[in-house]
This record gives sequence, structure tokens and C-alpha cells, in this order.
Amino acid sequence: MRFDVITTMPNVYDSFKDTGIVGRAFRSEIAQINIWDLRNYATDTFKHIDDVPFGGGSGMIIKPDPIFKAFDEIETVSVEKPHRIFFTPQGKPLKQATVQRLMNYKHIVLLAGRYKGIDERVREHLIDEEISIGDYVLSGGDLPAMVLMDAIIRRLPGAVSDDESTDTDTFPVGLLDAPHYTRPAEYRGFSVPPILVSGHHKKIEEWKLNKRLSRTKEKRPDLYEEYLIQLEENKNG
Ligand code: SAM
Repeated sequence: MRFDVITTMPNVYDSFKDTGIVGRAFRSEIAQINIWDLRNYATDTFKHIDDVPFGGGSGMIIKPDPIFKAFDEIETVSVEKPHRIFFTPQGKPLKQATVQRLMNYKHIVLLAGRYKGIDERVREHLIDEEISIGDYVLSGGDLPAMVLMDAIIRRLPGAVSDDESTDTDTFPVGLLDAPHYTRPAEYRGFSVPPILVSGHHKKIEEWKLNKRLSRTKEKRPDLYEEYLIQLEENKNG
């Protein structure tokens, strides 16, 4: 899977690209990343990519020209038309289902905004999908771009050493994750649930599933309802 990121701040991706599961996925070519600096598409000597808004108002707007040119260049090297995403607090909220759907694309271009925003013609004529990572306003779309890439990459086959371990995470199957404990079995007088040290694999799996169900019901009744509906639909074929 290939990601191209168009940004005003290319340096913020430096440690992201090299670290942890994401870094390993890029090194082993499970995924590819290319960062495109919008300023390289500025035409004046001062590398201006923004300008004042028509009609007045505060803040600066990223001009259409550098963005269109960056997309043009990326698309000269791509075999098929990539899926073009813009990050904005006005977009559809990012969910695990969005992540699962986006995994089906071979090539995604991510546009990270800055300042007051981008020229509306980019949204109208270039962008396929707008994504928000939550109901709050950040200073730029780079953190959202990293959030989305991380969420996709960890689900790609081979990215996490034990593929199953991402299925048991919160969300992929519609339930919250079970509680986890590690050694020592007794710490400051607090013990781990005896079942986990019983060696009884079948009973342990049952315990984990029950915990996942009860936690989801308690903490996220909305997800629990959806899970039950999905279960019923699967039963009825
Ligand atoms: N004026 C814009 C608005 O109210 O819709 C917000 C601009 S924000 C200061 C600058 C950039 O940060 C946006 O263009 C967008 O790319 C990114 N951004 C901010 N909050 C975001 C969020 N919750 N989700 C995704 N992107 C966000």
C-alpha cells in the first residue's frame, strides 16, 4: 500500500516514518510513504503557498496552485488514480470501519491542511473524501494523517508479528479489548484473576470474551447494541 502525503511541514513525519510498527512496515515494504513539501510548488522566491482570503476575514488560505501541482506530480507516477483524502474537522469522523474500507486502496494521497484552511476549489475538484479525527480543531492535518496511516498500517497483513493480536484489539470485531495482566501474579497485594494463571486455555478464552462483552456493554452501550445487531444478522445469513 502506498501513501503520499502533501504537507507544509514535512519534517514532522521524520520519527513517525522510522519508529515502531509503522517504521518496520515501511522498512519491510508492507507499506510505502512519500512526503511532498507544498513549498516546493510555490512559484515566488519566498516560497509563499498561502494568501489572504477573498472577502476579508482572519487567517491565511493555502492557494490552489501548489496543491493542484503536487497532486499532478504524484499522479504522473501512479499506475491508477489514487484515492484523495483531505483532513478537516468538517469531514466524516474516522472510525475503525473507515480504516477497514480504506485498506482496500492500493494508493492513497493525504492532504494535510494548515492555517485557516485551503482554497475551496481543491475540495470541490480534487478531493474524494474528507476525514475528521474528532470534534476539535487542530493546527494542521499532519497529526490526522499520521493517525490514519498508523490505524491502516497496523491492520495490514504482516505489519504486526501476530496478525491475530490486532483482531482482539478494541473495535475490529466491534467489542472493546479484554483486560490484560502480566508478571508478577501478585503485586503490592493485588492479584491477577486466578483463571488467567490456571493454564485452562478454553476457560481463559471464555473469560476474555465475557469480559469483552461486559466491558463493551458498560462503557460503550452504543457499540454493544451494534454488535448484537451484527450478530443477529450474521446468524440469519
Ligand atoms: N478553519 C477550519 C475549520 O474551522 O474548518 C480549521 C482549520 S485548522 C486550524 C487547519 C487544518 O488542520 C485544517 O485545514 C485541517 O487540515 C486540520 N485539522 C484541524 N482539525 C482537524 C480535525 N479535527 N480533523 C482533521 N483535520 C483537522
